[in-house]
Amino acid sequence: MKTKSEAKKEVILMRGIGVSSGIVIGKAYLVKTKGVEPVHFCYLDPSAVEAEVSRFKDAVKVSMEQLNKIKRTLAKEGRGKEHIAIIDAHMMILQDQMLINDTIEVIRKDRVNAEWALKSVLKDIRALFDKIDDRYFKERSSDIEHIVDRILLNLSGKAEKSLADIDEPSVIVAHDLSPADTAQMVKGKVLAFLTDMGGRTSHTAIMARALELPAVVGLENITQKVETGDTVIVDAMTGAVIVNPSESVINVYEKRKERYERYGKALHHYRSLPSETIDGHRVKLMGNMEMAEEINALLNHGAEGIGLYRSEFLFLNRKDLPTEEEHVAAYSYVAKRMAPNPVVIRTLDIGGDKFLAHMDTVDEINPAMGLRAIRFSLKRPDIFKTQLKGILRASVHGELKIMFPMISGIEEFRRAKAVLEETKDELIKEGKPFDPDIEVGVMIEVPSAALIADILAKECDFFSIGTNDLLQYSLAIDRVNEHVAYLYEPFHPAVLRIINSVVDSAKKHGISVSVCGEMAGEPEHALIFVGMGVEQLSMNAFSLLRVKKLVRSISYAEAREIGRAILQFSTAREVENYVSSKLTDFYKEEYWS
Ligand code: PEP
Ligand code: MG
Repeated sequence: MKTKSEAKKEVILMRGIGVSSGIVIGKAYLVKTKGVEPVHFCYLDPSAVEAEVSRFKDAVKVSMEQLNKIKRTLAKEGRGKEHIAIIDAHMMILQDQMLINDTIEVIRKDRVNAEWALKSVLKDIRALFDKIDDRYFKERSSDIEHIVDRILLNLSGKAEKSLADIDEPSVIVAHDLSPADTAQMVKGKVLAFLTDMGGRTSHTAIMARALELPAVVGLENITQKVETGDTVIVDAMTGAVIVNPSESVINVYEKRKERYERYGKALHHYRSLPSETIDGHRVKLMGNMEMAEEINALLNHGAEGIGLYRSEFLFLNRKDLPTEEEHVAAYSYVAKRMAPNPVVIRTLDIGGDKFLAHMDTVDEINPAMGLRAIRFSLKRPDIFKTQLKGILRASVHGELKIMFPMISGIEEFRRAKAVLEETKDELIKEGKPFDPDIEVGVMIEVPSAALIADILAKECDFFSIGTNDLLQYSLAIDRVNEHVAYLYEPFHPAVLRIINSVVDSAKKHGISVSVCGEMAGEPEHALIFVGMGVEQLSMNAFSLLRVKKLVRSISYAEAREIGRAILQFSTAREVENYVSSKLTDFYKEEYWS
């Protein structure tokens, strides 16, 4: 029989969500972000009580100093305000009456050691949080756990293990990584990171893309399967993680990694080349972004503007609403960084799986079809107008455009535009300048909007097709439900016909049309869009150069031919086979091929 540690050395294959790019083979470094050492009970002599209180106060003080230091690092590195806000929240917890004073009271009253007292207070707080039916507060309870761990670590006298102090380049394995953790990550030392928690749009995923680090999130229990020093293979594109791989598997991945790196270097050559077909047809490649941190990566990969700024990230991870000034600052920054290229700011797309912490959001049976996006904004014109004022005021700093998400009919679009006009009037009265000709676009992601694209096109300046939701709603498959994931078929003839008709309507009415869903970043899908006549594609940093390579390998005439041909097929499989056969004619050297 194997001992426990031998059993741990077994090869373990795990699959999570690959949120960035790259392959890494390295040693794991397990960060104990959940639960430090077990806490032991110790009964105190009355004469030792006050010394114990002082020991506790010192640990709190050290914790505060550590957070202050992290906050300074974040500010120095120009990290987003939202991260600093989280550190501020942690600092507030450190001053919390219930956590700190109650612990001191327990030490004095029960004459127990600080660790024990702190844990027992934490237990009470947890019980209290469990009773609160509010997702925001439930999430904040994990912040308190982080703080308690920090104090416990400082009580133990062990110096805080800083991710910046790792001796050898490692793959960080953690339950979850807070902004305080990611702030300390030094590229070169941190090869990649793996977390139990998280999804594609979780904070860690966004940071991985922003720092251009390979990462796999949502692994559920990797922290229980890996020990510091274990060899791990991380494939950040497929989400595959192999713990303790055999020599032969390492060899396979080393070759794959080499091919990938060679491919990456070769791709870099496309960075400053124009995105145009062999016969000179331009296809603008833009970036999708959630946070300011992503801009550098997008610019490094040659983004010609921002095709989708998911502004809801300004609203998440906080208890209050962003002020008009905060909106102005955030959008002005992006406008200036991207100038003279355009930035499309999508107004708040809240609801569905993203929620506002400070709102009493109703638990909807079907949130994807509920009070989401523009529906929410129209219901809360106060929040909507504050954001619109922010966008309008920032429009003096660059070419900003406004886009409304989840429009399902022309009246809804007119109502949104009416609020925009009211907002402009208010700004004129307030004497605040803005671009009066700011363009207003419609996100086409609901089938009803696609079907009346000709009507919408007469009243808006541009379309952007959100394929993530368009597929969800046209094929009736929940985009986050793994049981119906097999039906998620981007090549489905219905999807292709819908997109094609939207593009046709845009062309007929002389407005521009782009695609900003995940499909835009896949060469085989991008080929179809170019073939249909889409002029702009918007995607994450990693996809930009691959798609540019594709654009530069085809002639527009050839692509048009393909764009027409695919509409004749009856199944997704037929389309896929056809596109693959065409693609291999001119788009080779994919590292995995
Ligand atoms: C989409 O729906 O395709 C899209 C780009 O928006 P999101 O993924 O934010 O819903
Ligand atoms: Mg969408």
